[in-house]
Amino acid sequence: MQHFPIFVALAGRRVVLSGGGEAALAKLRLLLKTEAHLTVFAPEADPQIAAWAESGRLRLVRRAMEPGDATCAVLFYGADEDEAEDARTAALARADGALVNIVDNLADSQFITPAIVDRDPVTIAIGTEGAAPVLARAIKADLEARLPITLGLLARIGKAFRKMAEALPHGRPRRDFWSDWYFRDGPHAIAEGEESAREALDGLLDRHLARAGRPGHIAFVGAGPGDPELLTLKARRALDEADVVIHDRLVGAEILELARREALLIPAGKEGFGPSTTQEEINAMIVAHGRAGAQVVRLKGGDPTVFGRLDEEIEAVEAAGLSWHVVPGITAASASVAAIGQSLTRRGRNDDVRLMTGHDMMGFADHDWRGLARAGEVTAIYMGKKAARFIQGRLLMHGADPSTPVTVVENASRPDQRIVTATLGDLPARITEAGLTGPALTLLGLAPRHAAAATHPIQAREQEAL
Ligand code: SAH
Repeated sequence: MQHFPIFVALAGRRVVLSGGGEAALAKLRLLLKTEAHLTVFAPEADPQIAAWAESGRLRLVRRAMEPGDATCAVLFYGADEDEAEDARTAALARADGALVNIVDNLADSQFITPAIVDRDPVTIAIGTEGAAPVLARAIKADLEARLPITLGLLARIGKAFRKMAEALPHGRPRRDFWSDWYFRDGPHAIAEGEESAREALDGLLDRHLARAGRPGHIAFVGAGPGDPELLTLKARRALDEADVVIHDRLVGAEILELARREALLIPAGKEGFGPSTTQEEINAMIVAHGRAGAQVVRLKGGDPTVFGRLDEEIEAVEAAGLSWHVVPGITAASASVAAIGQSLTRRGRNDDVRLMTGHDMMGFADHDWRGLARAGEVTAIYMGKKAARFIQGRLLMHGADPSTPVTVVENASRPDQRIVTATLGDLPARITEAGLTGPALTLLGLAPRHAAAATHPIQAREQEAL
């Protein structure tokens, strides 16, 4: 950054400009928006400048600048559109201690004037260091179109109301109130005039005070398999409104970044190497924040209804008398089959599909091994890395074909996604070889549709290497 943007206090300060033509006019139009004392030196001045002088908006001196003319000036504009004259006046102004800008001469200017979007007291300055004036103009046009013309008036009315708004709790409630004022209620009300805008602001504050007293609420939200683009719009909105986000360790930083800046982010879960939180602790945390009146998002990897211990959390929330709802997400099985270009169900192959957890397959639960061993069956095994050998043994024992395809998808939908192809016969060996470290889903009964086509080139190469 070669130029540092600042806002210079000009009220009651002196600003001097040399020049009386087009360039001078353009600068003066901007400067007249300020409360500066303007002095213009011009042997020949545009009639508009003369008119401004007559109405007392600036002082016009009808001669060329001389030493001492810029004494006490904060800023000086050289706008004679003549190289030699600009150099002369700039040197005089510099000697008098003013910061100097020469119109259309970046190299000899000590400051530059940005493109300005004026919604006084809201002022937006856009600069490109002279590199791309077209870009600055485009950004300005964009902002001009986007910001209500009444924004400045709204801000002035709002400013006088700031003390009153302190009746609202800090953070979210107060921000929501102002955002409604500037972008929803305010623009409507101002169309009816300033007085009714003030009344509307009063009414708005009452409504928000009532809302600030509302009870906490818990949203159980699916974060999907990892790619932030696989979040639902509802999940995004919930994150956008959350006061507190209690998230699984599986949920990546890119997704957490979508939460409001002020939201409290609390990691909770059993995955990973960090300290783990027990389910009771998680339940207690959700309930405590809900009771404190927070809009809580309980953010879970994939879909919250799949191996997410959702029911235990809902029961705790209900027991505490708090309201809740569930926002579904894309589960790892969906992302994994997408990665290998396969379907979870297929006409003529399998008309049902199982979602299983490797944990309770390790002997804790009785499974329909015979059914699982049938040709064409498709099973998605979550948390199944460690159980691979056990599952292989049971299935072979119940008559499964050792050449049954098995695909393990690690980090499905994430940039580090890997696909490991195997058969039931060599599954444990393949998993060991691959050295999987991320979350991985085992798809029993499925091979990638095309060894390489459906996957990322890098992953395809890795896959060939396997
Ligand atoms: N509720 C989650 C599952 C939680 S259980 C869902 O619907 O996806 C955690 C297991 O999910 C992991 O051990 C792994 O088997 C699987 N998993 C989660 N995210 C995954 C991903 N991006 N790629 C592969 N498997 C994933």
